[in-house]
Amino acid sequence: MDFQLSEEQLMVRQTAREFAEKEIKPQAAEFDATGEFPVEIIKKLASLNFLGITIPEEYEGGGLDTISYAMVIEEISRACASTGVVLSVNNSLVCEPILTYGTDFQKKKYLSDLASGKKLGCFALTEPEAGSDASNLKTTAVLKGDHYVLNGNKLFITNGRVAEVALVFAMTDKSLGYKGISIFVIERGFPGYSVGKVQQKLGINASGQCELYFEDCLVPKENLLGEEGGGFKIALATLDGGRIGIAAQAVGIAQACLDECLKYSKERVQFGQPIAKFQAIQWMLADMSTEIEAARLLTYRAAFLKDKGERYSAQASMAKLFASETAMKATTKGIQIHGGYGYMKEYPMERFFRDAKVTEIYEGTNEIQRIVIASSILK
Ligand SMILES: Cc1cc2nc3c(=O)[nH]c(=O)nc-3n(C[C@H](O)[C@H](O)[C@H](O)COP(=O)(O)OP(=O)(O)OC[C@H]3O[C@@H](n4cnc5c(N)ncnc54)[C@H](O)[C@@H]3O)c2cc1C
Repeated sequence: MDFQLSEEQLMVRQTAREFAEKEIKPQAAEFDATGEFPVEIIKKLASLNFLGITIPEEYEGGGLDTISYAMVIEEISRACASTGVVLSVNNSLVCEPILTYGTDFQKKKYLSDLASGKKLGCFALTEPEAGSDASNLKTTAVLKGDHYVLNGNKLFITNGRVAEVALVFAMTDKSLGYKGISIFVIERGFPGYSVGKVQQKLGINASGQCELYFEDCLVPKENLLGEEGGGFKIALATLDGGRIGIAAQAVGIAQACLDECLKYSKERVQFGQPIAKFQAIQWMLADMSTEIEAARLLTYRAAFLKDKGERYSAQASMAKLFASETAMKATTKGIQIHGGYGYMKEYPMERFFRDAKVTEIYEGTNEIQRIVIASSILK
């Protein structure tokens, strides 16, 4: 087993770290406060090839491996968790399935623009009655001549506010249950596609979640991704990869929290000495540091298996489960270490705490991750 990162991986991490520290971190509190989508930052990240990190260069992607992808998402999320998930969705949930299941036409028409960041994508699966039970979709797609006609609505869609391309899940045959789900590549300008209200949330405020509506939305039949009825399988496989991104996002949030706690505990003096001298504080720091290392290693392992072409579904779930719980624990302790100041908006702790929570929910709640893990070990 080799724990050494390659020269290339180290370089990618350094580039992401320097960019995040200089360009993103100073604006993160403002993005959180205003909910403003980080448009200019995304353009700059595109110039670094971070919108399609694992996509081959022929489609204007970075041509890098999944460990590099995880490191980039960690470093960006360490500065701003909203920007981290915007990137993760475009990379894992939009570019990757088009690369894997797309036709030549779809790759030519959409993948290069998405991987190069000329356009941003979103992944629209969730509906009011279909969350964890993603098979319970109400959105329908009916083939009429050369077009599918879509009707239904989606919610909580990350990037939905600005995305120009959406991967949309709909029922092409209700009688088949989950085997009747298909995916469509839909452009924002297609007739019948509209963007609903931006949803107000606890955290990751700048990542543009909103509702999407489809009213007799006309989608050319060549925009079906994969086979008719193959959508659920693609969703599950795509979310396996996405969970590596969310695990990395959680590691980034937890690491940012530890960074601030180390600094603060050396500066804050009570009873005549820095609070870092108190064993109670040291133990919290030690636990945070240990759990973050473990979460990072689980994330890298899932990424490593994905790159080797081996099964990694349970490993991605383990990484997402452990990393998200680590981020919640670290940010809870982080506020405690900061005392009353941790509760105040002047310090980033409360933002980290709010941002961390969603990593236990999206791309499969942690209860769903436990189901995936249990089914893999109970075989
Ligand atoms: C900020 C944010 C961004 C999101 N972005 C996207 C996006 O870009 N695209 C997209 O399609 N979706 C997105 N989602 C949706 C997200 O994936 C769902 O919220 C999530 O899958 C849970 O679905 P739900 O909210 O309907 O909760 P429910 O499924 O209603 O779950 C409620 C509770 O019941 C538990 N539960 C449900 N089923 C079981 C079970 N079988 N066993 C045990 N416990 C169970 C859950 O774990 C949870 O605790 C986003 C959500 C949020 C909050």
